Amino acid sequence: MTAYSKDVIRDLVSGQLPWPQTKRIMSAYKDEDRFFKVLAVLQERVSWKEKILLPISDHLFIVQAKKARVTKCECGHDFGDYKKNWKLKANISVRNTETSLREIYPNNDIPDPKWMEIREFLCPSCGTLHEVEACAPGYPILHEFEPDIEGFYSDWLKQPLPKGL
Ligand code: ZN
Repeated sequence: MTAYSKDVIRDLVSGQLPWPQTKRIMSAYKDEDRFFKVLAVLQERVSWKEKILLPISDHLFIVQAKKARVTKCECGHDFGDYKKNWKLKANISVRNTETSLREIYPNNDIPDPKWMEIREFLCPSCGTLHEVEACAPGYPILHEFEPDIEGFYSDWLKQPLPKGL
């Protein structure tokens, strides 16, 4: 069993690792039940009862709701079907001016707003910042994290998926 550094684990919990790497690490965890320990910690933090299946970022999870699997904020805000891009239902704040970019790069050269903008994706209910994207203006909103939940549970964790309440 490979030991992973705290940084890697933190990135894993906050969904910053690419999916193939996430799968590899989680498959290493399964022997010592590590993945489920992470899930248990996350589940304790939330006030709702639906089971967390997979963390997407620090405060955003794929959850087994009554019938469907949905993307859900820690506050309980429901972004709908997990296969759809939750970012399209988020509040989006775009930094595409020198002034707004300067707020996050106070001491550095700022990117040229003609070529790059920063998009912040916030929960419409609680305002938590779930993700930040830097890309060319007009570039479509990314949906980089589309996990195969069934395959992940059956092939990697060798566990049944939790049922809806
Ligand atoms: Zn929220």
